[in-house]
Amino acid sequence: MEERKEEGRSLNFIEEIIDNDLKAGKYTSILTRFPPEPNGYLHMGHASSICLNFGVAQKFGGKTNLRFDDTNPETEDTEYVESIKEDIRWLGFTWANEFYASDYFDKLYEFAVQLIKQGDAYVDDLTADEIAEQKGTPTEAGKNSSFRDRTVEENLDLFARMKNGEFEEGKKTLRAKIDMASPNMLLRDPLLYRIKFVHHHRTGDIWCIYPMYDFAHGQSDSIEHITHSICTLEFVPHRALYDWCIEKLGIYPSHQYEFARLNVNYTVMSKRKLLQLVNEKHVTGWDDPRMPTISGMRRRGFTASAIREFCDRAGIARREKINDISLLEFCVREELNKISLRRMVVFDPLKVVITNFKEDIFVDIENNPEDENAGMRSVPFSKEIYIEREDFLETPQKKAFRLAYGQSVRLKGAYIITCNEVVKDIEGNVIEVHCTYHPDSKSGQDTSGIKVHGTLHWVSILHAKQVEIREYDRLFKVENPNNEEGDFKEYINDDSLHVIPNAYAEPALADDKAGEHFQFLRKGYFFMDKDSGGDQLIFNKTVGLKEGFVKKDGGLVTEKVK
Ligand code: ATP
Ligand code: MG
Repeated sequence: MEERKEEGRSLNFIEEIIDNDLKAGKYTSILTRFPPEPNGYLHMGHASSICLNFGVAQKFGGKTNLRFDDTNPETEDTEYVESIKEDIRWLGFTWANEFYASDYFDKLYEFAVQLIKQGDAYVDDLTADEIAEQKGTPTEAGKNSSFRDRTVEENLDLFARMKNGEFEEGKKTLRAKIDMASPNMLLRDPLLYRIKFVHHHRTGDIWCIYPMYDFAHGQSDSIEHITHSICTLEFVPHRALYDWCIEKLGIYPSHQYEFARLNVNYTVMSKRKLLQLVNEKHVTGWDDPRMPTISGMRRRGFTASAIREFCDRAGIARREKINDISLLEFCVREELNKISLRRMVVFDPLKVVITNFKEDIFVDIENNPEDENAGMRSVPFSKEIYIEREDFLETPQKKAFRLAYGQSVRLKGAYIITCNEVVKDIEGNVIEVHCTYHPDSKSGQDTSGIKVHGTLHWVSILHAKQVEIREYDRLFKVENPNNEEGDFKEYINDDSLHVIPNAYAEPALADDKAGEHFQFLRKGYFFMDKDSGGDQLIFNKTVGLKEGFVKKDGGLVTEKVK
């Protein structure tokens, strides 16, 4: 965890750079950007980048642009554009401008022409394989292409014809003319443009040549006057090319800074891999509650502020590390404890008949003991109730927190009951238990003097609503599925979804608003799933009540039994 100051955390290294730049008068205000490629849904790693880019701008009175990096038309789609915007808004951030790299295709083409005119770029006829062969190795210089010394006129003519669709894919590329012996392989005459006869989700069929990332990103930053262009560490070697392009073109000098990707254990975090999970139906979609996507976490019941808090605590590092998912769950639990409505739901019912209780009444129970403004609710209480089967012990134990023959427990918000009869079927299974209640033991007005060790949640059978519960375990059996041998999908936990089709809930739950977070007493935090509708109520388990994960066989993590 990062070092923390009393009134908030100390600056991370990116913030320090910006702070120094502002103090030195290098900028009067800063502009950052978040540049997703619209080829998938955003995940926790993107959340970290969003919190960083929007967060530093907020902190230093600057702004942030949202720029879709849409230079790979095959894999990009407007569905992704829409989901990305929804996720950023939900996380609580507002962009100053919405731009697309494709907005700049004309400008980028002009930039390419400028490089050609300056003798800094040339059209190459070599195939991708030939280019790779001539590239050399980190210790051995590459070879100049035999097309490297084409005249400016010839290059201009060929590039215009590439644009006009006169050549097939792969037959020609535009390359920067830098240095085939550079120790930085990315400076060995990198590709700037390639031919692709592909429909683009925004520019349609206007273009059949598309700029490479390295010829789009820095220039887009520069066009927008981005001051601090923050990206992840794999772009360190690209920085020299980023600077080269800006210098040769003589355009606004944006600067690139790199930080370590956010990693979290027991999951994968690349859109390409997440797409495989979706396409191969290992999950129900990008927003499956087991997915590390922002939409999956939202559907599961994680809150935006808990995710922001997690990103803040995980910190911005210069070197990669793997964060423990339990840190995120801790942040979620901390917030949900403060805001969630308490409700009672019995997952595995055992019928209890309170033989001396005659009428139906309501008992008032607080909605949230952590929030005095949350008020009370009236919960119906009657002669026949359900308790959790595991809350009844066939063999009585001293000081047990549960109900057993001859022993007493308190029913939350209601009375103390004592068990005096256990009814079994022929096979000896307990089918119901009979109890008596103590009229002078009502919660808040208890004069009975009876001491009990346990308080149980319950529902009145007559009034209960049936609900479906979906509980989730880790999507992967191993901590780092990326680092294992073979395909990452071999490490999928086949038992990550546990459905309880018929749980019994107190009736208030049917009237609660969608979007509300709940604590089901003694069960965990829950959130209504979007599959709910009509009479059917479905709840996702967001996270358990306590941090208490233990490693079992094969590294699978399951919750400790209380
Ligand atoms: P993926 O490998 O999942 O496709 P990406 O880096 O290709 O990720 P982009 O859409 O290009 O995804 O990323 C948008 C921004 O989010 C980039 O600035 C990228 O560096 C950042 N980003 C992506 N993954 C992470 C991560 N795990 N941690 C921090 N930032 C990330
Ligand atoms: Mg990418």
